[in-house]
Amino acid sequence: MRALNARKSGPEIRRWQTGGMRVLVVGAGVTGLTVGVRLAEEGHDVHSLARELPLETTSSVAAALWYPYLIQPRDKALSWSSRSLEIFTEMARSEPDSGVVLREGVELLKAQAPDPWWATAVPGMRRLDHLPAPYRDGWRFVAPVIDMPKYLCWLQERLTAADGTITRMALSQLPDQADLVVNCSGLGARRLAGDTSLVPVRGQVVRVAQVGVERWLLAVEAGEGDEAGVTYVVPRADDIVVGGTDNYGEWDRRPDPHVAEQILARATALVPELAAGTVLGHRAGLRPARPEVRLEEEAATGGGRLIHCYGHGGAGVTVSWGCAEEVLELVGG
Ligand SMILES: Cc1cc2nc3c(=O)[nH]c(=O)nc-3n(C[C@H](O)[C@H](O)[C@H](O)COP(=O)(O)OP(=O)(O)OC[C@H]3O[C@@H](n4cnc5c(N)ncnc54)[C@H](O)[C@@H]3O)c2cc1C
Repeated sequence: MRALNARKSGPEIRRWQTGGMRVLVVGAGVTGLTVGVRLAEEGHDVHSLARELPLETTSSVAAALWYPYLIQPRDKALSWSSRSLEIFTEMARSEPDSGVVLREGVELLKAQAPDPWWATAVPGMRRLDHLPAPYRDGWRFVAPVIDMPKYLCWLQERLTAADGTITRMALSQLPDQADLVVNCSGLGARRLAGDTSLVPVRGQVVRVAQVGVERWLLAVEAGEGDEAGVTYVVPRADDIVVGGTDNYGEWDRRPDPHVAEQILARATALVPELAAGTVLGHRAGLRPARPEVRLEEEAATGGGRLIHCYGHGGAGVTVSWGCAEEVLELVGG
């Protein structure tokens, strides 16, 4: 047995010991990569197939602040978000190359409101005493900020280190040549799973060079789901992501220069330092919104198993680790 082990790599030995399955993960956004990493590190033989590689996905456009937004059902989203918050918090401490840092920030609201539905997940959240007009309520808390281009590359390396692979492939149907297929195709599930309840919610952001902004800010301008529902300023090490928009049913991924001007005007009114920042770029992404996240096993028609994990709306990063752990539980069960 020792001679056999000597020819195997660490992940191979683990797979051999655990009797790992051959898994195909469809999608290489934050959902597919996180699920892939968890399964590969458990000893499964994981291969991701994706039409867009990580830096081309909606996930790479995300701001990305830990913040449960445009996601249902709330009870599950709360538990997925809480678990992800724990993992991101630990990552910010122990994995400096991951692109995850903890930053304090404030959320501002135009009307007085009860604590948000996810407040119990956030330790040390405090209601604000002094508010800039026209805001009438708000809170301060520390949250992970995830620099998505950096983080997605880090996740991809972690997947590869566990012997996983990523291959560019545009699929016209879900594959069936595996023990398990995990469908993490975001909006792609409209076609791959025939799920017309998925709708795009287009979000546009402007990337501005760092001008010394350290705290994030999120101002709720109208109700969740309104077109200019939230203005946000999310600082990263070298730049600041400024947003945003929520356009339901809009499929156009091209940034609109007129919308970019409006976003910058709204954000600069709240954070005047932004006026001195050079605009580095513009991006738009399509959030995969669904009445509820679909995280369940479906009886597959072929020999293998099929688990769906898509429809994370405006919170795919926020819930990513909690969802990946639930996929793992389904696999185990
Ligand atoms: C402007 C903006 C700001 C955001 N800010 C935040 C934030 O601050 N915090 C947060 O938590 N979330 C945020 N989000 C939401 C977040 O980006 C999404 O919830 C998340 O990216 C969804 O990830 P995903 O991996 O499920 O889907 P995606 O990133 O869309 O990845 C889907 C993958 O499936 C693949 N695929 C699809 N169809 C096929 C096919 N037919 N064949 C092969 N592959 C296929 C794609 O190529 C891709 O690789 C934001 C989104 C936007 C647009």
